[in-house]
Amino acid sequence: MKLNLNIQPLSTWISSDKQPLVIGGPCSAETEDQLVATAHLLAKTGKITALRAGIWKPRTRPGEFEGIGSIGLKWLDRAKQETGLPTAVEVATAKHVEEALAAGVDILWVGARSTANPFTVQEIADALKGVDVPVMVKNPVNPDLSLWIGALERINNAGITKLAGIHRGFSSYEKSAFRNEPMWDMAIALKTHVPELPIINDPSHICGNRDLIPYIAQKALDMDMQGLMIESHIDPSVAWTDAKQQLTPAALADLIDRLTLRKPET
Ligand code: PEP
Ligand code: MN
Repeated sequence: MKLNLNIQPLSTWISSDKQPLVIGGPCSAETEDQLVATAHLLAKTGKITALRAGIWKPRTRPGEFEGIGSIGLKWLDRAKQETGLPTAVEVATAKHVEEALAAGVDILWVGARSTANPFTVQEIADALKGVDVPVMVKNPVNPDLSLWIGALERINNAGITKLAGIHRGFSSYEKSAFRNEPMWDMAIALKTHVPELPIINDPSHICGNRDLIPYIAQKALDMDMQGLMIESHIDPSVAWTDAKQQLTPAALADLIDRLTLRKPET
């Protein structure tokens, strides 16, 4: 069943001059130096379309680094002013939305744990009413297509038309090489219901391990996904979150060089 969402093409809100489209940046903003230096290295590669950084981190267990908080928004703005890269941040509450918008963040995304909670998604949607900002919605942690679609509908009903899905894989009880099972059929099913929705693949959170990222990123492009969100840290070995899956900016540039784009059909 095709749903009736009102969605603008990706090209209306993110530059498509670089192919593939890549949103790169650290899992978490840690220090001003780490974020700004990573942003400069990424910008210098010339292969990145937007800069991501987690400011508020949804950790599964308490007692770990839960994000640097609002101060990181200032660092992100500095990175944007100095590199010209648009910025993207995860929001999980109405307050996050308000603070991110006030700080000039260009793109918001809803994280996998939030997508699984309709109350949270509705709170975010309510905070977005009357605002024209692009929003990307990650799939929920669990393989429930309706939750993913429902979150997109809530955000779209709030008037957000610059909308995309992010495919970041699904938790599974089974042990696997992947941190989150790709379950590609979920992304295909979403595309079937909402053909005009751009889908961006997040190989970092699918893989959980930098060695597997090229395989997943290539497969996503082969499936005509419209972009990639890939975590990159100036020194992944000391990253405060997701150390095993982050790539140096140089490694990210090398990966992008090795990916092949499908030729447009003639
Ligand atoms: C992230 O992007 O760093 C993150 C927390 O992702 P997810 O919501 O996919 O777990
Ligand atoms: Mn992460």
